[in-house]
Amino acid sequence: MEKVVVLGASGSIGRSAADVLAANKDRYTVHTLAAKENLTELCRQTDLLAPENVITASEKRFPELQSLLAGKTAVKCGMEAMIEAVQQPDVDTVLCAIVGTAGIMPVLAALKAGKKVALASKEVLVLAGELVMRAAAESGSIVPVDSEHSGVFQCLAGRRGDEIKKVWLTASGGPFRTWEAEKINNASLSEALAHPTWNMGRKVTIDSASMMNKALELIEAKHLFALNADQLDVVINPQSVVHALAELSDGSMIAQMSVPDMRMAIAYGLSYPERLEKPGSHLDLAKLSELKFYAPDKKKFPSLEFADAALRAGGTLPAVMNAANEVAVERFCNGEIPFGGIWKIVGRVMENSVVEPQKSLEQVLQADAEARRKAWEVKG
Ligand code: MG
Repeated sequence: MEKVVVLGASGSIGRSAADVLAANKDRYTVHTLAAKENLTELCRQTDLLAPENVITASEKRFPELQSLLAGKTAVKCGMEAMIEAVQQPDVDTVLCAIVGTAGIMPVLAALKAGKKVALASKEVLVLAGELVMRAAAESGSIVPVDSEHSGVFQCLAGRRGDEIKKVWLTASGGPFRTWEAEKINNASLSEALAHPTWNMGRKVTIDSASMMNKALELIEAKHLFALNADQLDVVINPQSVVHALAELSDGSMIAQMSVPDMRMAIAYGLSYPERLEKPGSHLDLAKLSELKFYAPDKKKFPSLEFADAALRAGGTLPAVMNAANEVAVERFCNGEIPFGGIWKIVGRVMENSVVEPQKSLEQVLQADAEARRKAWEVKG
């Protein structure tokens, strides 16, 4: 039996992870479930998975969770409890799906304790990729859980660095792929939330519409697979069936394909190097009426230009890009700025930041805070 800690249990990835863990109880037991403040979901998963510990990040909701789960499991609170949980000697795997920067410290602690980290939190590598990969080189390991990175991981399995010419992350193109630039700039919130293929949380769905999601994923891929900016590209596959491709030095292209179901990438993140049986639908190529690929339009979707700058500069620039985008998305959701304002804000904040090489977590978090402050002030 393998013991698993799930950080960010109540989000879209966390709930899919609960499905995977519940379907594989002969293989996994749950050491800890942690979430911010969705107590209803924590209680549902406690009944489903019988974890030894449940953690809420919210001090305010802690007493309520204690009374809800009295007699069922140990209830704890806060970042320290999460860091303690991931270091326990009987824990094998830590699935980190926390949205935001709160995942960085527990991931660093888990790696230091030699754990396998199934990583779904984008911010961990976008902000602190250099620090995190240095930690992973010393002890522990990282298996990516995002569908594209799981795809790349599978395409590159067992290959030497000099065999790899280029890696493509695929994008669905989002709801605005075929729209005119002017219409995209003035898109409404409900239009941005209408994702054609993936069912995800609100922030990542808006990031898919702006292609900022792909920009963040390019930064993650750079770190996970030790690639440079020229070895990374994006191709649109509107069917979301091909998740990643690798071009090898002899011109061979390896693709990873499956139905768009996050549970597959989560399952592989947990079970790697083994594979779990997949219940439910499988990819039926004969029934797939078409499989199309397009180059993304970087003029219409400037996120990919931002990614290129952030990939080349490295250091604190990806953290700045991410922080400015988070604020810009919040301002768009508040109705303060048009959809196109997201790009204006991110572009301006990136232009006005001084890039420093990554030295410490404090420094990266400071760059993040500074970019947030600017992003609230800039005109969108
Ligand atoms: Mg993805």
